[in-house]
Amino acid sequence: MALDPELLKILACPVCKTPVEYHEAESVLACAKCRRRYAVKDDIPNMLPEEASRESPPRGDEHRGG
Ligand SMILES: [Zn+2]
Repeated sequence: MALDPELLKILACPVCKTPVEYHEAESVLACAKCRRRYAVKDDIPNMLPEEASRESPPRGDEHRGG
């Protein structure tokens, strides 16, 4: 099942406000910026940051000067 494209358009990461990307195979909405992954269950995205999982950052890429 696919998410409603109109819904996808307005969905953004609640943490950093970046538009999320739907990964249908995994049923997750992924934020490319903060790398949180929001689960989609029964076509309903769970956009709660405290329930989002996070991709582990690449090794040696955690602390960047800037
Ligand atoms: Zn984010």
